Amino acid sequence: MSDAKLKLGLVGLGKIAVDQHLPSISETGLFDLVGIVSQRGLTVPGARTFATQAEMLAAMPELTAVASCTPPSVRHDATIEALQAGKHVLIEKPPTASVAELADMISVAASTGRTLFATWHSQFNGAVDQAASILQARPPAQVNIIWKEDVRRWHPGQEWIWQAGGFGVFDPGINALSILVKIMPNPVFVATSDMVFPSNRDTPIAASLKLRSHGVDAVHAEFDWRQEGEQTWTISVTLRDGGTLVLTNGGTRLFVDGQPVLAEADQEYRHIYRRFHELITQAKSDVDARPLNIVADAMLLGVRRETDAFNW
Ligand code: NAP
Repeated sequence: MSDAKLKLGLVGLGKIAVDQHLPSISETGLFDLVGIVSQRGLTVPGARTFATQAEMLAAMPELTAVASCTPPSVRHDATIEALQAGKHVLIEKPPTASVAELADMISVAASTGRTLFATWHSQFNGAVDQAASILQARPPAQVNIIWKEDVRRWHPGQEWIWQAGGFGVFDPGINALSILVKIMPNPVFVATSDMVFPSNRDTPIAASLKLRSHGVDAVHAEFDWRQEGEQTWTISVTLRDGGTLVLTNGGTRLFVDGQPVLAEADQEYRHIYRRFHELITQAKSDVDARPLNIVADAMLLGVRRETDAFNW
């Protein structure tokens, strides 16, 4: 492959595309953003805007890759369309609205020989890598996840998160699960799931999970979208040897035995675009289905409670 930048189309110019994808594409310098799909007709300097992905694919055969920044419920059809058009595809998390859709996408990527990269941005932190290494050497005894944030602050006006297939509080909660599966020495399973649904919505505003993992006494996760004031994205681990390991700030800071070990500036999406380029160059895919499987199992095994209606 030459050193020329790969031509990229981006689908869905919403919050994460603007906050993270556009600056990361520009700063990493590996992709040339030449096409945008925006239902609202939004534009980005240097790129042509299309109303649908099909129009972009037809008009721009020179595209090498597509980045999907839409809600998960529309990702399956669009990803299959892009793969079958011969494009490499990067998808936001959660990858799909269902487990079967993700399995189909993996299969189509393999049959078309194109790269499928299902990103989990929280996994792209040095602190998470280091936590995984430490837990290999010092086994965990108990894990406690607290992922509590204010939905009005982080998802202002987004209706899709409350519609079936929109994940509700599992939209941020799956980030914690993506870290959990990466740092734990053994597979993680849902034992019980207790979910709270606003009376006027189809997805949960809070969830409490008990999980199991070989050799671990207890794994507990609390997700809540009603937290005002300080926001908490913390995973605390009590180690079998009596020590502690704590990841805070969404996995960017690591404390071991009470001492700060690593604190990184936010580089998650820069790492993601470098990884996407590397995968394309190596003709490989990278799809970790485990976080989605845990959420699906939490839905399968969960009890449902109702709470007050949610209105913006
Ligand atoms: P968003 O602000 O609602 O943006 C999604 C965009 O996708 C919309 O603005 C729209 O853009 C396009 N779109 C295409 N089909 C759509 C449909 N049926 N319904 C609604 N929008 C549709 O959402 P977001 O926060 O950017 O999240 C997008 C994805 O990124 C989600 O999977 C989310 O979990 C993930 N993510 C979000 C964050 C965050 O902080 N918000 C962080 C990490 C990952 P056009 O009008 O331009 O077509």
